[in-house]
Amino acid sequence: MFTVRTWTQVILSVALACGAGMPAAGGAQGARTVAVTLDDGPFVGGGGATYLTSAETATTRLLDTLREHRVPAVLLVNEGQIGGAPAAEVAARTALLTRWLDAGHTIGNHTYSHPDANTLTADAYAEDIAKGDLVTRRLLAARGAPPSRYFRHPFTHTGDTADKKAAIEAALAARGYFVTPHTIENADWLFNVPYRRALETSDEAQAERVANAYIAYTRRVVTFAEEASTRVFGREIPQVLLMHANVLNANTMTRVLADMSARGYRFVTLDEAMRDQAYRTPDTWVGKGGPTWLFRWSRSLGKDVSFADEPEPPTWVADASK
Ligand SMILES: [Zn+2]
Repeated sequence: MFTVRTWTQVILSVALACGAGMPAAGGAQGARTVAVTLDDGPFVGGGGATYLTSAETATTRLLDTLREHRVPAVLLVNEGQIGGAPAAEVAARTALLTRWLDAGHTIGNHTYSHPDANTLTADAYAEDIAKGDLVTRRLLAARGAPPSRYFRHPFTHTGDTADKKAAIEAALAARGYFVTPHTIENADWLFNVPYRRALETSDEAQAERVANAYIAYTRRVVTFAEEASTRVFGREIPQVLLMHANVLNANTMTRVLADMSARGYRFVTLDEAMRDQAYRTPDTWVGKGGPTWLFRWSRSLGKDVSFADEPEPPTWVADASK
């Protein structure tokens, strides 16, 4: 005899079985691919007395979430967080990077001190690049792995003049790096400011409000990237998502990833995403900003694709981040 409880279980299991075989919205399950990259590793914590505890908790959450969703990620590191640490914390901060490697992820160079290419000479910038991979190289060598090939410019500012851009790229190539592109950027760094502030003041309602706005905005920028890649390449290309190793993502990444899975995305390595021929398009764009590679490639290809409708974060979030 069926009780209410068992009927609920039957209905649930039927729904789950049906759902498992259904194509997700926007295409067949797994037809879309995305590589996940996280900047400012090991953790956007602002230093200070609480840095290490916050970084350890956030790292655990991020790694757990990535494992649950089977996401192979790249962590782009600012080694200044280790080199500039109090002596007593150097080993523990280094161990944060080891945990990413132990979990099967890749680490790369995001410069030592997170400088802005617009404000430095190419030589000074190259020094910060070279200083930025000493720990990473040591950790990889200890595992018999080659040095990392992944580099991302802070602020994705790639050089405000053609000469500077070329000189930085030459310095990167000489050290074995390529520039890590991105096609989706969800302004997580902006949302993280009021989110962190809300957590610090135990304002749970505000934290929830910011998190919900972040998830909603991420959906909009993902949709925009899908449409923009179709306008630039005539198809949806594998996407590269740029986020940060911050507390906002530690607490909400599972929602971001679940949303992408529901849109039919499969999570792939950066190498796999970049095997797509779209990623062989040169980036010839020069300027002070840090636009996505979809914009840069549209300019390289001479396509007058408008990015005017690129979604902006809500004004109240931008105001709350000040
Ligand atoms: Zn950064």
